[in-house]
Amino acid sequence: MKQVKTDMPPRLEVRGLVRRFEGKAVVDHVSLSVPRGQVTCLLGPSGCGKSTTLRMIAGVEMQDEGEIYVDGALICDTKFRVPPERRHIGLMFQDFALFPHLSVADNVAFGLKGAKEEKRARVEGLLTRVGLMRFIDGYPHELSGGEQQRVALARALAPRPRIMLMDEPFSGLDNRLRDDIRDETLAVLKDEDAAVLLVTHEPEEAMRMADEIALMRDGRIVQQGAPYNIYNAPRDREAVAFFSDVN
Ligand code: ADP
Ligand code: MG
Repeated sequence: MKQVKTDMPPRLEVRGLVRRFEGKAVVDHVSLSVPRGQVTCLLGPSGCGKSTTLRMIAGVEMQDEGEIYVDGALICDTKFRVPPERRHIGLMFQDFALFPHLSVADNVAFGLKGAKEEKRARVEGLLTRVGLMRFIDGYPHELSGGEQQRVALARALAPRPRIMLMDEPFSGLDNRLRDDIRDETLAVLKDEDAAVLLVTHEPEEAMRMADEIALMRDGRIVQQGAPYNIYNAPRDREAVAFFSDVN
């Protein structure tokens, strides 16, 4: 009989994460887990603690309490800390600009180690995937905002991160472009089999992209579930109001 493995740990697991500034918990016992190949959206109004949560997972900010696990292995608690560059985590932020003095190819290859030919193959594969092979020898200033965003996605994915952390990555783009880039980004991320934690304050974006939504407010996750379930059964009036501009 074929054995089905059910004890696979989630790609990313966060337990009881707390961050205080001047005595106030801006992230207040946040727990989350993201399986591989899944997009979880951390959704909530501006100032609720989304970016701080992401920065702790990335390792660029220390938590006051709580633990972070990748594939079941502890990467950070209050005493032990794997440095950011060894966490197998890719980052994409709204203002995470490309290096202007490097070609598109060199931007994408930036975080890659190994033989030149291997790196080139990975760069070409990713640029083909995001439809930008024709710009491989171009420079960032020659690209539109949307094209730069696709290059940034390719760059973040190049080292094959196990987890992608994305903080409002599409908010700098105009509306017309945004839907296309969201869909395309999703398709590329699914190909790469990473676990994705996407931060947004836009319910519409979460509804479009998430497999699961974690609704955040005042530093806490107040509701978590499939987008459809949360949209149809928001837990309180504040959640109803927050979702009211989605149609
Ligand atoms: P979001 O990304 O959801 O908009 P943030 O995580 O950026 O929220 O911020 C959450 C809260 O923590 C805000 O009130 C913000 O002002 C505060 N905060 C963030 N970073 C710092 C810091 N370094 N020092 C003091 N307060 C901070
Ligand atoms: Mg933020």
